[in-house]
Amino acid sequence: MDLFYGISNQIKGPQLSKNFDVVIVGAGISGLLSALALSKEGKNVVLIEKDNYVGGVCRTYDVDGYRVDTGPHIITRLDSGPLKILMDRYFDVVPKFVPIGKYYVRMNGGGKPFPWSIREWMTFDLLPIEDRSLMMKTAFDLMYMVSAGRDLSEVTIDEVVPSNLSKTTIAFLDYLSYFMLGTSTANAPVARFLDRKEYKLDRANEKSSISIPYVGRLYNLLIGGRPNDQMYPRGGIQRIVDSIIVSLPKNVEVKLSEEVVSIDVEGVRDGGQKAQEVERVTTDRDEYECSTLIYSGSPHDLPGLTGGNLPVDYVENLRNVEQVDSLTVWLGLDGETFTQPGSEMWVSTDPSYHHTWLIPTSNYDPHLAPKGKQLVGFAFIVPKDVDPEEMRRRAMNTIFTTMPELEGRVEMVHYQELVPEKACWSINSGFGDVETPVDNLYCVGSSTIKRSMGLTRSAYSVLRMLDLMKLDGNQK
Ligand SMILES: Cc1cc2nc3c(=O)[nH]c(=O)nc-3n(C[C@H](O)[C@H](O)[C@H](O)COP(=O)(O)OP(=O)(O)OC[C@H]3O[C@@H](n4cnc5c(N)ncnc54)[C@H](O)[C@@H]3O)c2cc1C
Repeated sequence: MDLFYGISNQIKGPQLSKNFDVVIVGAGISGLLSALALSKEGKNVVLIEKDNYVGGVCRTYDVDGYRVDTGPHIITRLDSGPLKILMDRYFDVVPKFVPIGKYYVRMNGGGKPFPWSIREWMTFDLLPIEDRSLMMKTAFDLMYMVSAGRDLSEVTIDEVVPSNLSKTTIAFLDYLSYFMLGTSTANAPVARFLDRKEYKLDRANEKSSISIPYVGRLYNLLIGGRPNDQMYPRGGIQRIVDSIIVSLPKNVEVKLSEEVVSIDVEGVRDGGQKAQEVERVTTDRDEYECSTLIYSGSPHDLPGLTGGNLPVDYVENLRNVEQVDSLTVWLGLDGETFTQPGSEMWVSTDPSYHHTWLIPTSNYDPHLAPKGKQLVGFAFIVPKDVDPEEMRRRAMNTIFTTMPELEGRVEMVHYQELVPEKACWSINSGFGDVETPVDNLYCVGSSTIKRSMGLTRSAYSVLRMLDLMKLDGNQK
């Protein structure tokens, strides 16, 4: 916690407006990565956070001797993905990442490792053989669609899967759709399941160049096997935030417990040309002149903060952004119950239970639980019509009905109601963008780029922001 002492020390009382090269709103992982990258590129940066801590939904804290993360986390693409690129370029220290083992699927009383290849899929007998064969045909249909030039970001899962699948297979697809995109199979684009690995900025040709790489990605999906670039940071996900904090140079000021309440956008858009600029940012304590603003807060708040001075179609799109709510239940267990090295996907076909994804994080790092105990986090998606108390009750019911032996072993229960990502990746809802109609305003975070998910998505957005700033002449 010494790290946070250092940051709190930088909090200052009311002062005259100050001039920074870059003002960053929000000190979650996206704001922190942006602050680190831009300050190391020589910019004077101020990072403004309304809470009295940094990290947003990427933190780890103590509960009764256990160290819980803000939701179960596995970090993806650590071999060559966006977070790895940012760590290599800008981190002075990097967290120690440990392998996560396998993903196990548990449904209808059976359990098996997740099928990553054709061979594993054909022996994945938690689903009926007829459905597995039908789904294989779907994969070949997709190959055909790609060769015919269809853009799979416009095609939903429901459009391509057979209509006569069993309840069990529908539940399995529903699970994947909600946990990977935050939306139902009726709204989930197929492209998400074929996400490419490499990062390349191609502002002009992003859509037109999309179909060729799909062929390789489909091939990987069918033949590829289990990814080996997914890890967990030893010590908890806070370690990623801690690594950023100790890497921040002196030209970053971090302001905690300070909320941005308005963003002054001057000028008008004329004939589609960008002619608007952010002039000033006002918080509940201060005012900041800025030449560049990076916004990592909720897309829903941006129109209000800018006082209605953004183009109507842009605002309409942000209003249509959808988010899902999640509930995480952390259980401290008296002794080891989950002994398999990996996480578990509990898929439910019974409507009175809920799908959940669980990770016994103390298997990855025993220091997260007191000696001889186990810490396990269960993540649930909260349906729109269910209130938090009711959801907690249903979650506990799902856990203890599925594994009755757990009930007598629980010595700590901790609940977290959080929004995992600031936008669902859904065909029928709005989605933000790193680029905005305002010359010197960029947005970062999980609502701004349709790539991957979570921290990886946030890191992609930061890379894109850096590239766009360079192209726009706002960055060397
Ligand atoms: C249950 C759960 C499970 C998850 N699992 C995974 C996983 O397995 N793998 C993975 O990679 N990711 C996972 N994630 C997602 C990941 O944690 C988030 O996508 C990521 O941390 C979001 O970072 P962010 O900076 O974009 O947003 P946030 O963390 O939301 O940060 C935004 C910050 O901006 C601040 N802010 C907002 N408005 C203002 C304002 N007006 N003034 C000042 N400050 C403001 C907020 O207080 C906040 O600190 C999970 C999340 C949850 C909740």
